[in-house]
Amino acid sequence: MPDSQLSQLKDLLKIHWNYSEFRFGQEQAIKNVLAKKNTVVVMPTGGGKSLIYQLPSLILSGITIVISPLIALMKDQVDGLERIGVPATFINSSLSPVETNNRISAIKNGQYKLVYIAPERFYSAEFINLLNELKVSLFAIDEAHCISEWGHDFRPSYLRLKEIIKLVGNPTVLAVTATATPEVRADIVKQLDLKDSETIVTGFNRPNLKFGVIRATDAQKYGYLLNIVQQVNGAGVIYAGTRQKVEDILEYLLTNGVTAIGYHAGMEAEDRKYIQNEFMAGRARVIIATNAFGLGIDKRDIRFVIHFDMPGTIEAYYQEAGRAGRDGQKSYCILFYSPADRYLREFFISGDNPPPRVITQLYQTILNYNVDTVLATYSELMEGVSDQVPDMAIGTALKILEREGYLERNREKTGQAYLRLLQDVEQIKQSLSAKAKVQIKTLETFIKHHGDNLLTGVEFSPDDLAQLGGIKREAITRLAKKLTEENLAEYRPPFRGTEIKILRRVKPEELKIDFSALKAKHRRELDKLDLMESYVFHNGCRRQYILDYFKDTEAKACGFCDNCLTPNSVSTGFHNNKINSSENSMVEIDDIDFDNEFKIETKLTQLQTYELYEQGLALDAMAQTRNLKPGTIIQHLCFLIEHGKNINIDKFVAPEKQKLIKQAAKKFGTDTLTPIKESLGESINWDEIRLTLSRAKH
Ligand SMILES: [Zn+2]
Repeated sequence: MPDSQLSQLKDLLKIHWNYSEFRFGQEQAIKNVLAKKNTVVVMPTGGGKSLIYQLPSLILSGITIVISPLIALMKDQVDGLERIGVPATFINSSLSPVETNNRISAIKNGQYKLVYIAPERFYSAEFINLLNELKVSLFAIDEAHCISEWGHDFRPSYLRLKEIIKLVGNPTVLAVTATATPEVRADIVKQLDLKDSETIVTGFNRPNLKFGVIRATDAQKYGYLLNIVQQVNGAGVIYAGTRQKVEDILEYLLTNGVTAIGYHAGMEAEDRKYIQNEFMAGRARVIIATNAFGLGIDKRDIRFVIHFDMPGTIEAYYQEAGRAGRDGQKSYCILFYSPADRYLREFFISGDNPPPRVITQLYQTILNYNVDTVLATYSELMEGVSDQVPDMAIGTALKILEREGYLERNREKTGQAYLRLLQDVEQIKQSLSAKAKVQIKTLETFIKHHGDNLLTGVEFSPDDLAQLGGIKREAITRLAKKLTEENLAEYRPPFRGTEIKILRRVKPEELKIDFSALKAKHRRELDKLDLMESYVFHNGCRRQYILDYFKDTEAKACGFCDNCLTPNSVSTGFHNNKINSSENSMVEIDDIDFDNEFKIETKLTQLQTYELYEQGLALDAMAQTRNLKPGTIIQHLCFLIEHGKNINIDKFVAPEKQKLIKQAAKKFGTDTLTPIKESLGESINWDEIRLTLSRAKH
């Protein structure tokens, strides 16, 4: 780069960003962009990746398109750019078609130099047409690891980008990411079909981060957590595996006098924003969050990041832990681990990777409806599937069929809920604590809109009622569930199903799906989990382990992680920093904190059923409590048996029936169950056969 150009770039850097020097790697990447060289930049979070496309957008003659999956952050990013004098705008699904058109016209008129676009927009041919007349100089792809199925956050919409780049006239491509391993980097180049590209990787080393692992049971984790939170001053992030745990930890810390706040994806966008601001401004010292928190957050003085549960990959772990200490000050990254964490991760992975048989059986099940548009719940669809898989696996299988063009899913359809009060309104009001203001307001909303009909039972839409009463949908379901638990009401949640449109009908065995690729993906995820778990049991320097994982060659022992401080031991604490060490206590799966409000995405439905089983509930009672069909409960029990749970099936299948079933199985084999069923006749049902065989096999 000629000196004059470099000094021009530095002027812009000073004028707009108020920095005097580029950070490591930025200059080289910008130089590449201006020389029209396709470039992949791997730079840790906080390294200044966005500047690499933002600054050139001021110089390039055409516009810069930035692809980002972070729709919620686009407005903030654009506002931020406008404040520093970079003319930018964004286009995503939050805009009306009219507004989208207006913005594109403004781009054509030269009003904006940089535009953020959500990748999903490219599903629309109409939208792509609008881009036709634009002169695009730079096509920047943020979070570029999303294009790789080998990464931890694959998004199918990214696969279209290769095509889009051609459609907008093959501009220079810049792909940036914080977390790509060498294999993901290679995949980004391949998937985008980048010719003569250069990959720039800047250091992953963060010398001020102190890593440590504490092995503890779930119950012990709370004590250690409080210990750390009380001993380390300053702001901290606690990552938890589920929403329920976020709430539990929040309550625990609040009770112990810590100013904490909770955050998860189930909250309204407005609430999330408010909570984020409270944390950013330091009004809450500690934030407890699911992994939904953190993308695009730039708080530099976070002193500790604690993982209450083990994440599934080192990439995910390092990205989240790396939010500590961006200001360069000493900060802690501590991972809690119990063997149950591994089990949960395996469960998530199995939900993400349905076996081929589940996919073909699911497709067959959908065809069997004999209509073009099927409306069904996951548990209904599951009935046609012989394997025991988490609910989430059904969602994944649908996604795969959709990706291959066999069907199309529409938004979730929500039906009516039902509520009947079993006591009169005044009595119920008295049963609520005077402090429970939300509950009282929710009850009053019910009364206002449904009056005495509540005593005979009403059907209602939770969404509508929430809007009418100015309350949250969750408040309604929570109250309804609470009243039901206390026998004050009868409640049936709304039907939640999926609308599936069949696009192509073929014989299930003729489905063209690359099953070997799916299998390889499954294997990879398990391998990554192994490497994550190996981190826990690693005896050497933790930082070195992580840097080795990313093939960062500058890895040297850090000298102050837990292992460096107490070499050759399996110690678990920072002795020199007074964070207590613990015994290596192992726990059984029973120590898992069961979650009452798991929805499909949290996948632990079988374990909820197990809890009811342990309470001694009969099949119908379990089905009713869980609002599932008895057949689904049976599937859960089979699953639990196959995963080593001690389930006594005598309660569900009479011993003499079990005997008959086993005899038939001996005679006909168990490859397919139809001959067994046919030989036994009507007196023995499918559920009984499945359960008996599952028990017999394990
Ligand atoms: Zn170390």
